[in-house]
Parts: sequence; structure tokens; C-alpha cells
Amino acid sequence: MTVDFAATRALFDLPQDVIYLDGNSLGPLPRATAKRLADCVQSEWGQMLVTGWNKAGWMAQPNLLGDRIARLIGAEAGTVMVGDTLSIKVYQALASGLDLLPKRRIILSNDANFPSDLYIAQGLCNSLGPDYQLKIVENGAIEDALDETTALLMLTEVDYRTGAKFDMGALTKKAHQVGALTLWDLAHSAGAIPVHLSQTKADFAVGCTYKYLNSGPGGPAFIYAAPHLIDKLRPALAGWLGHADPFNFSQTYEPKKGIARMRIGTPPVLQMAALETALDIWDLVDMEDVRRASIHLSTRFIAAVEASCPSLSLASPRDAERRGSQVSFSHLEGFAIMQALIARGVIGDFRAPNLIRFGFAPLYNTEDDIDSAARILAEIMRDDLWKEATYQTRAAVT
Ligand SMILES: *Cc1c(COP(=O)(O)O)cnc(C)c1O
Repeated sequence: MTVDFAATRALFDLPQDVIYLDGNSLGPLPRATAKRLADCVQSEWGQMLVTGWNKAGWMAQPNLLGDRIARLIGAEAGTVMVGDTLSIKVYQALASGLDLLPKRRIILSNDANFPSDLYIAQGLCNSLGPDYQLKIVENGAIEDALDETTALLMLTEVDYRTGAKFDMGALTKKAHQVGALTLWDLAHSAGAIPVHLSQTKADFAVGCTYKYLNSGPGGPAFIYAAPHLIDKLRPALAGWLGHADPFNFSQTYEPKKGIARMRIGTPPVLQMAALETALDIWDLVDMEDVRRASIHLSTRFIAAVEASCPSLSLASPRDAERRGSQVSFSHLEGFAIMQALIARGVIGDFRAPNLIRFGFAPLYNTEDDIDSAARILAEIMRDDLWKEATYQTRAAVT
């Protein structure tokens, strides 16, 4: 399939005079979403009322959307379920994984992992008792730390700060060699790079849809479990919609067959309608084409910035194969530099303590975006424009 990225860009409602390099934090609005949401509110909720669960197919959406995401992450149909938030899905995957290996007590992760993943793991260990432990090591020490006490290796495939990408296949294999299971967080992978969940034999994966997949703020998360595990899983956070027969209102929990057991409660219907519309765009593209275009854009950006901004240091792997779809540079004044960029219409973000971060999404980012962003950044650095007082104050969300 050859993708016409000019055509996909036209499907997004991007503000005039903005170069958006932050789709790794919140994807932009697809043009079709506003109408789809208005229809969902007026014709479905408004007119169908409670009958919308059947008539408009709301109840089946989590499965159907899961199958559409499955294609993007190298998973088979029937292995991905949509719902809740990423933090909750991390909890569910960890708890179900620990349950499969009752003799093991250790969740292993890395110190660069996203805080919510670490907090959730720590909180779960605290609830389970003093034998359970979250062990956090540096990236270089992961393989050596894996042993027969490890229940789960929990990693975010693409580092949210540096964009460095783990080798999912190799690490999953190492984990399996000691009998451990793996949980991969795909927050910065789904829609960013090709992912091969079945091929790499990953056990669990989770991810969000409001970043590269463009489902909008608060869009639901997804969870994957390997086919051979699914019917053995005892879902943590067992809720009525994961029950085999929810409308029998039985007093005792019995999980549904299949990945639908990972459902918990009432799904966010409006957010799912937005996700459905965003996935219509993803249906037009192949992740290998997206990857090729993403590497082209990020490589071009690195070359332009390094040629014109000697005080910025590349904080991402130089080898494109070893990064996701984002690039970060470090500078002590990173916060003010990013504010100066945003004031000039180039939206990236800042990650403490000193990183300015840029995400590349070929669905809507062009070579022109990259060249203009690099030129504006070069002006800011050359003329010290970031020193202006207004760029020093921090808002609640950075
Ligand atoms: C964005 C992100 C999250 C956010 O979790 P939410 O529950 O959606 O707020 C968690 N983990 C990683 C690795 C992320 O990048």
C-alpha cells in the first residue's frame, strides 16, 4: 500500500499557523470527529436514549475497536480490549500476571519508566503484602536482574523522555528464559512504530489512544493478552461487564470467555465514537509506511537542529532504528526555550529536568513543518529569545 500522507493530513483540523509536534502527548482533532460526536450525542443518545446500547451498538464497541487497534500493534483479532485508562490497564495486566505465577513476587521495571506505571506497580505490591516487590533498575541492568523470582518484566517500549526503544523481542525472550511474563506499555508505540505483539510473544501489552492514535483528551486505553493466556486470566478489577452474563445480575463473578473479561464497567461512549472516527484514518495506512516517513522526518529534524543550534544536545538515540517517533534535546533552559517555541506557533513539550521533546506524526506532519520548526528554534537560540521574562513561568501542565 502506498500512503498519500498529503491526503491524510487533509483529514485533520489543525489550527492555522501552528506546527504541531506534540501528537505524542495529545493527538490533533480529525475533521470527521466533531460531526460524529454531534451525531452520537443527538441521534444516538438524544433519540435512542437507553436503547442506544443495542441499537447504536455502544455495547459492542470496546471489542470492535480493540480489533481495529490489534492490526496496528501486530496482534490477532480477539486479543485487544478497549476501555478505562492506561493506568488502570497497567494495574489489571500486572495483577493478572502475578496471579498466573503465584510463587513469584517480583515486578521488574526500569528507573526511566513513566511514573504512573511505577506508582501503580508499587501500589499493587503494597496491597498484596510485604512479600511483593517492585524492583527498579537502570536500563543496562535489566537482563541481569531477571531471574526465577521475577513474575513480570514491565517496560514501556519507547521511553517517554528520550524516545529510546527497547528490543521487545529480545527482552521478551530473556524474560521467558527465566519463566517470567512481560508487560509492554505501548503509550509511545501504538501509531508511532510498527509493533509485533504476536511475533515477539509478548504476554501483556497496554496503551492509550489519545496520543498517536488521536482519539482526543481522555480517550480510552487498551489492553492485550497473548491468546494462550486469555482464558486463564482472572481479571483484577472484576466488574459486571466482564462477567459471562452481566444481565443475569448474578451474585458470583464468572469471567466472560475471551479478552472481554478485561472489561470492567460502563464504557465511555462519546470517547469511543471519537476513537472510532480516528481509526478510520488509521485504516488507510500501513505502519511500515508510517515508520519510514517518521524516520525521514526525525532524521531531518536532528540534522537541521544540530547544524544550527550547537548548545542543544541530542538526548535521543542517533540510530533511528533505536528510537520511537520522537526526538528530545537537552538544555538547562529547556523550559523557557519550549515556551518561546510555543509562542511562535511550534508546539512541542518540555519534560523535566531539561528536555525539549518533539513528536513526529507523518499522518499530518510534513517536511515543511520540520524545516520551519528547526528554523524558528535556530532563531530562538541564536538571539537568546528564550530569555524573555514571560517564558519563565510554569503552568500546571507542561
Ligand atoms: C501517557 C502515559 C501514561 C498515562 O496514563 P493515563 O492513565 O492515560 O493517564 C502512562 N504510562 C505511560 C508510559 C505514558 O506514556
